[in-house]
Amino acid sequence: MHIPCFVISVFSPNLFIMELIGMVRANKFCTSISCMDGRIQLPIIHWVKEKYHISYIDTVTEPGIDKIFSNTEKIQEIKSKVSISVNVHGSKLIIISGHHDCAGNPVSKKEHIIQIKNATSTIQSWKMPVKVIGVWVNKDWELEIIEN
Ligand SMILES: [Zn+2]
Repeated sequence: MHIPCFVISVFSPNLFIMELIGMVRANKFCTSISCMDGRIQLPIIHWVKEKYHISYIDTVTEPGIDKIFSNTEKIQEIKSKVSISVNVHGSKLIIISGHHDCAGNPVSKKEHIIQIKNATSTIQSWKMPVKVIGVWVNKDWELEIIEN
């Protein structure tokens, strides 16, 4: 007979506590701030799932989003979208990325890296209870962490 989980929980306080700890540690959601480019979505999702064991990746996109972090008005828009992921979904990790061959932001890799570093600093200045990582999606569609 299948016993519903909550019934076990009621009769086993230790198990109930373990479940609560599990819920806190599960890190089910993280947040990806990326370009809208269709070529980078799956590489980002696979990388994050594998590296951080996260189930769902909330995604905020704009074309050439790493460039947009120089636009104050747009930053507020991105911030309000990201805060839904952090406050409601409990995301503990934000990935901000730029990528090779970006149509929305056709600058050199060097320029992208500078923009991603700036964007990472901006997101950190929001003081959300999260870890912020900048990444570069290279010409082989692989992710490289950018140290800030
Ligand atoms: Zn792009």
